[in-house]
Amino acid sequence: AAKAKELSASIYEQGSEEKHLHQIRLVDDLKIAISEDQLTMFYQPKVDLHQKRVTQVESLIRWFHPELGFIAPDEFIGLAEQSGLMPSLSRWVIRNVLNDCMDWKSQGFELVMAVNISAYDLAHDDLPDYVFGLLKELKLKPDDLILEVTESAVMQDPKQALMILTRFREQGIKLAIDDYGTGYSSLSQLKSLPVDELKIDMSFVLKLDQNKDDQAIVQSTIEMGHCLGLNIVAEGVESRESWALLEGYGCDKLQGYYISKPQNSANFIQWFKDYDV
Ligand code: C2E
Ligand code: CA
Ligand code: CA
Ligand code: CA
Repeated sequence: AAKAKELSASIYEQGSEEKHLHQIRLVDDLKIAISEDQLTMFYQPKVDLHQKRVTQVESLIRWFHPELGFIAPDEFIGLAEQSGLMPSLSRWVIRNVLNDCMDWKSQGFELVMAVNISAYDLAHDDLPDYVFGLLKELKLKPDDLILEVTESAVMQDPKQALMILTRFREQGIKLAIDDYGTGYSSLSQLKSLPVDELKIDMSFVLKLDQNKDDQAIVQSTIEMGHCLGLNIVAEGVESRESWALLEGYGCDKLQGYYISKPQNSANFIQWFKDYDV
């Protein structure tokens, strides 16, 4: 047994060292990826149930590594944060999505762009001015943009987050709380934030059509959110049954594979032209 324990410990160490080396490699490669165009933005629509059309689109980063293939954002966003790459990555993202937004506008497609920002972005004071400068440069309006920030990112330092988010809000940029229901924010904290939109976390939505508990949670979250004057988005809508339930609860917007998977700009616009709610 002792031997087995020793063995598994060494396997564990070897595993974790390999993992560590892999992470170091990814950080190095990510620096290259930012400057060499291995990154690209994909887009996933949000359907507005009142207007019966797509009004918003969420941007999601994709990394196609020349040797390792596709690397999911959940694998490298955290690394970018730990290694100080986040400022350049976030700037890369925002510049690219606003460029696409401008491009779509020039073709006659008016869509509000949703951009994910991380806890790291909230901890540093210089992102708002970068965004305002870019909006000006590209002749876009603040209400062309909505920032999605997770509940847990806000809770890491609520005071600092409130300061940054207020600066965005004062200029007319909209804000969404992402992954709502997975963190520990209280209603009173939520009330103090300058938020427009609440995105109910996918974990409550994916099996909505099969799970009564999820139905109760989602329905009451929608009612609570409406009482606070928020727009409610459900993400992770994968079936017609879930769509129908959410519509019945008065949910404002829906997002998920049932509507569309994230896709690149050209494919998204092609899809958007043909889509009928
Ligand atoms: P998120 O912001 O909560 O994004 C939702 C994730 O769920 C996306 O994964 C999306 O592709 C996926 N998804 C959408 N609809 C469905 C569905 O119906 N079913 C299922 N099973 N999944 C669905 P993705 O693109 O891998 O992104 C993962 C996370 O990485 C995002 O979670 C976000 O936190 C982060 N992320 C992605 N792009 C960016 C970015 O540009 N900047 C920052 N800071 N974070 C990003
Ligand atoms: Ca998001
Ligand atoms: Ca989310
Ligand atoms: Ca998430």
